[in-house]
Amino acid sequence: MMHSFHILGLFPEVLYSYFNSSLIGKSRENKLIEFFYHNLRDYSKNSYNAVDDKPYGGGAGMVMTPDVVCDAVRDLKNKNAIKKVVLTSATGDLLTPQIARDLSQVESCLFLCGRFEGLDQRAIDLVVDEELSIGDYVVTGGEIATGVIVDTVCRYIPGVIGKADSVEQDSHENGLLEHPHYTRPESFESIPVPSVLLSGDHKKIEAWRRQESLRKTWLKRPDLLKRAELNKEDLEYLQQLIQDGK
Ligand code: SAH
Repeated sequence: MMHSFHILGLFPEVLYSYFNSSLIGKSRENKLIEFFYHNLRDYSKNSYNAVDDKPYGGGAGMVMTPDVVCDAVRDLKNKNAIKKVVLTSATGDLLTPQIARDLSQVESCLFLCGRFEGLDQRAIDLVVDEELSIGDYVVTGGEIATGVIVDTVCRYIPGVIGKADSVEQDSHENGLLEHPHYTRPESFESIPVPSVLLSGDHKKIEAWRRQESLRKTWLKRPDLLKRAELNKEDLEYLQQLIQDGK
């Protein structure tokens, strides 16, 4: 199954070189995914090519007009088998691994990128299926948010990431942060690689990685531990960490 991503905004081309690079670029060449870039300005109604107007009620900034947005989305839906329209928005649902996994099951998605203060609410009510946020902060445009979301979604499409299990092990997949990584040399600027990683004992290595993952999560993001799936050994280890205070 080929996955299609349609990107609609005022500067969709900024994502072009990103999606042509590395794993995602390769997956494009291998026909696992394809990208289409659409410029909202092509749907503008007036001679100035305007796509925005002053907000009713006053205040700073401009608002994207509903006619341009609705026409563009409807035209693209008529011409392509788009199954879902996603708006990038700081007021949307926070992107999670589960949301990305679910989107990876949708064959063809359109990502709408806002600019200025965002879209007229009526356009959102009329043509948007889902609103997604990349975090509790504001960026200047939805293109980079689309880049983050689509990249995350692509990691769940079979064949995009070489070893399927490397996705499973990553941070946040099991509710924890990932353990640290080491590669050659064995000693770098007098700092040795933890000896257990050189032991060849896979059971021990797995146990060490699990403990490091628990420790990192406890130190940096204790909020995540509430939702993580923890077994008896994990809980014992955490208990010990709390007692030792490190
Ligand atoms: N006035 C808006 C921010 C507009 S920023 C507000 O206060 O919520 C312009 C565009 O950037 C938005 O329309 C949206 O498409 C994108 N954007 C900004 N922050 C984002 C975030 N955290 N997640 C996803 N998209 C975001």
